[in-house]
Amino acid sequence: LKKNTPTYWSHISEAFSTLRQGLRITWRHFLGARNSVKPRGPASPDYFSAPDGISTVQYPHASLPVPDNARYRLHNEIDDCIVCDKCAKICPVDCIEIEPVRAVEEIGKTSDGTSKRIYAAKFDIDMAKCCFCGLCTTVCPTECLTMTKAYDFSEFEVHAHTFAFAEMTPLEILEKKQAWEKYNAEKQASTPSPASRPGPARPVVKPATNPPVSGADTESLPEPAAKPKPFIPKIKPVIKPSQAPAKESGNTEENPSASDTPPSPKPARPKPIIPGKKPNSEDSQ
Ligand code: SF4
Ligand code: SF4
Repeated sequence: LKKNTPTYWSHISEAFSTLRQGLRITWRHFLGARNSVKPRGPASPDYFSAPDGISTVQYPHASLPVPDNARYRLHNEIDDCIVCDKCAKICPVDCIEIEPVRAVEEIGKTSDGTSKRIYAAKFDIDMAKCCFCGLCTTVCPTECLTMTKAYDFSEFEVHAHTFAFAEMTPLEILEKKQAWEKYNAEKQASTPSPASRPGPARPVVKPATNPPVSGADTESLPEPAAKPKPFIPKIKPVIKPSQAPAKESGNTEENPSASDTPPSPKPARPKPIIPGKKPNSEDSQ
């Protein structure tokens, strides 16, 4: 018991010390809660500092600032759209739907001076499908398609995420379509067919062939040149000095070993083995 007595009182002392430290932190936050930290975005210099005060943003009464390069809801400035369809083609999830209607003449200019010759009967973007990649804004030639800072567009119905940017009424669309069909029909009627075109007929061009020589005897024609033979290099056999044959002139002094020793017989070639055939007794010997 005597041994445990100092440990017992030291534990009680440590408990009071930690309790006092915790209450001091709590009291500091309690006093700091009288102030509220201003919402600050990543561009703020004290974004990573921790000043006193309540850091919770009371959304929607307050909101964090959105960076300028944020990519949220798409917006199309339809007056500057030339309905080129590039954005719909590059979209990886096919969330842009465009219905073009050709105009019979120029219908205006965009803010950068580009001619407009196509009406947008339909320009819908389904933001429920969009993956916010930004490719459509990159390819837009007139930069009328942009990603805005609007990130709060939650809806109860998923179909409400489809945003329509076309401004034509059904009656206007019908009128423009009929005008284009009429213009196209008149253009085709006024264009003469190739058969009824005035002037000389166009020459018929055929692929060139070698004509036969008129009045010439085919036998007297020069024969075609013989094909050149392929070049086969001649390879001289390499004869070692010890295998050189003796000269017939009988000059054996230059190669005495060749005259003294008889030529060794050629080694017998091994006979080929034919499958299914029994070897002869002579062959086996
Ligand atoms: S941001 Fe990407 S996914 Fe969204 S509409 Fe544009 S191309 Fe399609
Ligand atoms: S790329 Fe731009 S100009 Fe072309 S259809 Fe899309 S929004 Fe219109």
